[in-house]
Amino acid sequence: MRHSTAHVMAAAVLEMFPETKFGTGPAIENGFYYDFDLPRTLIPEDLPLLEEKMRAIIKVGYKFEEAKISTAAAKTDFKKLGQTYKLELIDDLEKENEQICIYKAGPFVDLCAGPHVASTKDINPEAFKLTKISGAYWRADEKNKQMQRVYGVVFESKKELKEYLHMMEEAEKRDHKKLGRELDLFSFHSEAPGSAFWHPKGMIIWNELENFGKSIRKKYGGLEIQTPQLAKNILWKKSGHWDHYKDSMFYFDVEKETYCLKPMDCPFNIKIYQTRQRSYRELPLRYTEIGRVLRNEKSGELNGLFRVRAITQDDAHIFVAERQIEEEIVSLLKMVKEYYKVFEIEPAFFLSTRPDDFLGEINTWDEAETDLKNALAKEEIKYEVKERDGAFYGPKIDIDIKDALGRKWQLATIQLDFQLPQRFELEYIDSDGSRKAPVIIHAAIFGSLERFIGIITEHYAGAFPVWLSPIQALIIPISEEKFGKYAKEVLEKLKVAGIRSEIDAINESLGKRIRNGEKQKIPYMLVVGEKEMDAKSVAVRYRDKGDEGMIKLEDFVERIKKEIADKK
Ligand SMILES: [Zn+2]
Ligand SMILES: [Zn+2]
Repeated sequence: MRHSTAHVMAAAVLEMFPETKFGTGPAIENGFYYDFDLPRTLIPEDLPLLEEKMRAIIKVGYKFEEAKISTAAAKTDFKKLGQTYKLELIDDLEKENEQICIYKAGPFVDLCAGPHVASTKDINPEAFKLTKISGAYWRADEKNKQMQRVYGVVFESKKELKEYLHMMEEAEKRDHKKLGRELDLFSFHSEAPGSAFWHPKGMIIWNELENFGKSIRKKYGGLEIQTPQLAKNILWKKSGHWDHYKDSMFYFDVEKETYCLKPMDCPFNIKIYQTRQRSYRELPLRYTEIGRVLRNEKSGELNGLFRVRAITQDDAHIFVAERQIEEEIVSLLKMVKEYYKVFEIEPAFFLSTRPDDFLGEINTWDEAETDLKNALAKEEIKYEVKERDGAFYGPKIDIDIKDALGRKWQLATIQLDFQLPQRFELEYIDSDGSRKAPVIIHAAIFGSLERFIGIITEHYAGAFPVWLSPIQALIIPISEEKFGKYAKEVLEKLKVAGIRSEIDAINESLGKRIRNGEKQKIPYMLVVGEKEMDAKSVAVRYRDKGDEGMIKLEDFVERIKKEIADKK
């Protein structure tokens, strides 16, 4: 239905501009797009007109008719139509196919493998919407002509469309780039594409998360290390990154040698492992690192904190004996659950198994996959299997989360690796004196701190829980002149208790100052006046719950301290 609606849109565009040249128009999540080469630039006002034409086409009920024709006939047909882009596609298809599939619905014929709905009438005219116009290079190559891409969404029912549009509106309000600016958390600058600049308030959130992650890692036996950012490419040749990952790496010459900025921490962690002989008694050896890596993401794909070039990973490389895999995975799964519980986000687990292009012994793979399954079962975790979706060097468990808007994000990965230990000839002395290769488990939980902060900023719509809030309590004296001194006393008490707090004594009305605090999404506002001063109290307003009345200052301090300790 999604792809069929793309055809209907193409037909509407053809009606509006008979000289349109068509690119491609696939189905995507919730909808579709189509790329057009048009005589003029589309404007947002065109979209309702196109939708009207689409509704008319749907109403007619054109059948989607499939036909298999020879490539020669297809060439003649599309040449006649002046469809130069389609001719290019036919040229490619010709190499492997003698026949080509086309679909016709009313006046519009497309080179297309289908499938389609039976008739344009099968599309609900009330349940689609054209959402966006953007530029797109033909075949995603910036050397080619830029075409105009029109996006749309389509659902079975009007209700689903309404819900989706509502969610998009909500998502726009929660956009982390917008909130990052409004709450003064971070910024991006054109001189450093893909690298976030962290402001003092953003840094508070960062540090809280980093410290939280570190404390959990420590609890599960993690040993923190730190490794450099720059290394000669000889290391990356050995790890295989130079051959397989070079396009995503930054590298340059220094003193006639090529150096790379690290895109991953693994080889560096291995260098530390290799500094001396290792015994089975040391395993599992759990190195953790806040790894600052740089990846050469295309500038067109950068997207706020979601897609950056300067990435900070909460990384871990665990060296285990093969027989320890299951137990270690159990421990990692426990740890993952502990991480996400705090954010009240529900993780979903996926097991990716041996791909067709796997390296290593089939037995090792089978045993490792069994270990992963057993570990998931022991932790009573429901999971989906992604058959043959593992990396060539080992099976893995991916963990997705769903945010407050129900959007899915892939965060943590627990990845087994049989290949790096071999490439670096890693070994340990086993209990019987024999030399064996350890297995490496790569395990990032937040994934990247940048991306994670972007996700939770949108998840909480900027109203972070108390423990993460840059300012936890804002003290508002009703009159600075009369109660300024008491406000300072309150501030002092809160600071001693480790509560991040400020006084808002700006000469504005009480209502205005409360609204400002609410805009800054500060969890607690403490209003102080005569009554509060006399009773050594504060009048508490909790973010969106409003007035809670007067509470003894000491009691408030205990309450907020407990909330912070409980990560509320
Ligand atoms: Zn099609
Ligand atoms: Zn790694």
